[in-house]
Amino acid sequence: MATFKALMLEETDGKVSSAIQDIDDAQLPDGDVTVAVKYSTVNYKDGMVINGLGRLVRDYPHVSGVDFSGVVESSDHPDYKPGDEVILTGWRVGEVHWGGHAQKARVKGDWLVPMPAGLDMKRAMAVGTAGFTAMLAITTLEARGLTPDADGEVLVTGASGGVGSVATAILAKLGYKVAGSTGRQESHAFLKDLGAATIVERAELEEAPKGPLGRERWAGAIDNVGGPTLHTLLATMQYGATCAAVGLAASPELKTTVLPFLLRGVNLCGIDSVMCPTERRKEVWSRIATDLPMDKLDALTETAVLGDLPDLATKILKGQVRGRTVVDVNG
Ligand code: NDP
Repeated sequence: MATFKALMLEETDGKVSSAIQDIDDAQLPDGDVTVAVKYSTVNYKDGMVINGLGRLVRDYPHVSGVDFSGVVESSDHPDYKPGDEVILTGWRVGEVHWGGHAQKARVKGDWLVPMPAGLDMKRAMAVGTAGFTAMLAITTLEARGLTPDADGEVLVTGASGGVGSVATAILAKLGYKVAGSTGRQESHAFLKDLGAATIVERAELEEAPKGPLGRERWAGAIDNVGGPTLHTLLATMQYGATCAAVGLAASPELKTTVLPFLLRGVNLCGIDSVMCPTERRKEVWSRIATDLPMDKLDALTETAVLGDLPDLATKILKGQVRGRTVVDVNG
């Protein structure tokens, strides 16, 4: 049986280590579709999995990689046949099921999305879970009434990260006035190039307003960092505005009063890209294919190979990876 390469994670005495190994089809987990993986990505969660943090993985050996694009090699699923180009994000693949950091993956066909017209396999992974989440957050804000002619800026926190950079680029292309918050001086020009009109220093948002409410500032917000920043955001949203809570790069803690909700009608919406239902997933991917500024996406994408993953996994946890990193699993 032909072998293929995978980044295998093993656990010994509670410590997780990784190595590229040659494995074969018989070792792949159960599933009704086998995919020849072309590209995968490195997300914050992959950083945790490869470093054995957060107990996201319970069974070893394990293959990380929360998303991948590729070509169906064999299928017992009615919606897919050999040769179809597919995308996978979410469903806890890369955590409780082997993921995309390998040249082949076997998954449930119900987890897949067909490649939408207008996207190719590399760009689909430049989008990946991060970009999918960004569009999920944007469409959630729009469903609650946000439009590009809003009188005020839409704030994106953790703006130079994976979710933040794609959200900034899409919002700017759609005509929103975007404020990008970053803790990195060297990201200011990068965010301006993506279309941010204003740069907000991370430290400014980490400082809580003096009272329970601050000046009404944001017409909408996408928050990737949580903690004190989310507290400040809620207290400074405009009347009736929505904040989409995406991430916890700073902290999972949330301290707030009920006053933003009672006195300003602020909405706090949770964004979950993992268990998002398939129909909603397809809608979001088709919006990505039509609304994503491809030139900007290319500019914020770096390419890596399987052997780069351990180093990248550590860097992403330290907040040192900017934009999106696509992994060419055959590179
Ligand atoms: P990245 O690591 O690419 O980006 C996170 C960004 O947050 C960093 O680039 C940095 O931006 C900022 N940041 C990092 N550390 C801190 C800190 N201590 N305090 C404040 N800001 C910080 O991650 P992703 O963009 O992939 O993901 C962002 C968050 O969203 C993560 O928590 C991730 O787990 C979560 N997530 C949630 C999803 C969902 O479905 N809800 C899906 C995908 C991700 P800068 O340097 O510009 O300040």
